[in-house]
Amino acid sequence: MTKRVLITGSSRGIGKAIAIKLAENGFNIALHFHSNHSAAEEVKQTLTHLGVNVSLLQFDIGDRAAVKQAIETDIAEHGAYYGVILNAGINRDTAFPAMTENEWDSVIHTNLDGFYNVIHPTVMPMVQARKGGRIITLASVSGIAGNRGQVNYSASKAGIIGATKALSLELAKRKITVNCIAPGLIETDMVSDFPTDLVNQMVPMKRMGKPNEIAGLANFLLSDDAAYITRQVISVNGGMI
Ligand code: NDP
Repeated sequence: MTKRVLITGSSRGIGKAIAIKLAENGFNIALHFHSNHSAAEEVKQTLTHLGVNVSLLQFDIGDRAAVKQAIETDIAEHGAYYGVILNAGINRDTAFPAMTENEWDSVIHTNLDGFYNVIHPTVMPMVQARKGGRIITLASVSGIAGNRGQVNYSASKAGIIGATKALSLELAKRKITVNCIAPGLIETDMVSDFPTDLVNQMVPMKRMGKPNEIAGLANFLLSDDAAYITRQVISVNGGMI
């Protein structure tokens, strides 16, 4: 039976690249977006042309009740996910002394509470399906090493790393792997105004990564070849750290 994967934030950027790569490899996709419906519809068409089944989900990952309802409805209609990729996330960068309460709260609430809100309703159906599975979270080089201007974002991503490692221990005997991808600077809307000279300073490979270079790793982690990889944080960052 074809395996189905939920990818949050797959209307744009890294999530979109992952959705396309997985569809090319035959996975059915639960495509999620927050605000940009037309972008999500375009991705849905692309995936459908690749011959896979697509369900479209809309929610704010910070809205616990909405996430639970949308995911439970999708699972009731189409069955448990084989894979879940917690990709959606936000940044609100500013030097810490100038950081507002809202900049702190929104990033922690969206990125870290998003872990519980999205993954919690997916886990028991995945366990009960008894087919193993894959959970992949997106952290960041900022969550490993810290980054100036990103105290809020670094905290949220470090939290995701801890949660990912802990959950991997709980699910290992169920043949469900739980790993974290930690990108460096990847060419998406999130870093569209990042200065080129800083890229050259920070990245030994002297360029940003492409969304597809994250998608390749996600696709590998979803594969049977990756069945024994769990509790890991895997960096894709052009040598930044
Ligand atoms: P983008 O800003 O390009 O896309 C973000 C995606 O997340 C969109 O699909 C958006 O949906 C969705 N999203 C945003 N806020 C919410 C929310 N509150 N609820 C639900 N969905 C939401 O991000 P990237 O592709 O660059 O990043 C993807 C992940 O990778 C993030 O977790 C990010 O932190 C991480 N990352 C990115 C790096 C980079 O350099 N780009 C570096 C390190 C980590 P919509 O468009 O519908 O609003």
